[in-house]
Amino acid sequence: MWRASVITLYPEMFPGPLGQSLAGRALGDSWALDTVPLRDFGHGRHRAVDDTPAGGGPGMVLRADVVARALDSLSPDGRPRLVLSPRGAPLDQRRVRSLSAGPGVVLLCGRFEGVDERVIASRHLEEVSIGDYVLSGGELAALVIMDACVRLLEGVMGKTESAVSESFENGLLEYPQFTRPRLFEGQAVPQVLLDGDHARIAAWRQEQAEKQTALRRPDLWASYAASHPPPAGRTKKPRESP
Ligand code: SAM
Repeated sequence: MWRASVITLYPEMFPGPLGQSLAGRALGDSWALDTVPLRDFGHGRHRAVDDTPAGGGPGMVLRADVVARALDSLSPDGRPRLVLSPRGAPLDQRRVRSLSAGPGVVLLCGRFEGVDERVIASRHLEEVSIGDYVLSGGELAALVIMDACVRLLEGVMGKTESAVSESFENGLLEYPQFTRPRLFEGQAVPQVLLDGDHARIAAWRQEQAEKQTALRRPDLWASYAASHPPPAGRTKKPRESP
């Protein structure tokens, strides 16, 4: 079973939202979650886990020895060990898919000014960011990573195809979605989606995915276009369906 272990000062934050909906129903069947309370490994009567930054400056830093003891309390089982950090490699769907395909993950949640650099190095932690903004702690980032991984586990999502056509899975953003009513405030569902011609629907969706990606995410579009070269003599533009 896919297993997530979260090292945190706030174990009561888990499973939090992951106790609901798809992930919540699958918890205990397709995946397991345990928390390692960092405070248990703290120093002295007050179980201190942090100290002032060497060299001065604001805030506190999680101590290397405390974090090391917490990490070492988990038996080595080959799971990747990640520390949540705004300095880390940006999380993307490719990394999510590879984490989800493995045995699980160990997630270390930072707090305050972060984690002493030496334990990141000595325990070979992979630094991962969930975006270019600063949260007050790694717990929400850990929940984000687990949610993204768990929904890809076998049997968690209703239909496996829904994962395949989603944003980022093929290097494009997803095409726009519509449902009932057929007319909403003067806007109709595109007729092509109602005609039942699956080849034309697929072509329309591909065209829309390409257009939306080129418009909203020129960075994604550039790498998609580079890996899907147009026929000789033509420049790559978002496709027009027949
Ligand atoms: N002083 C740090 C810096 O400037 O990079 C920010 C520390 S932040 C207040 C406290 C903790 O929140 C971090 O150690 C990390 O675990 C978590 N965190 C904050 N932003 C994050 C992000 N974008 N992605 C992942 N974790 C984040």
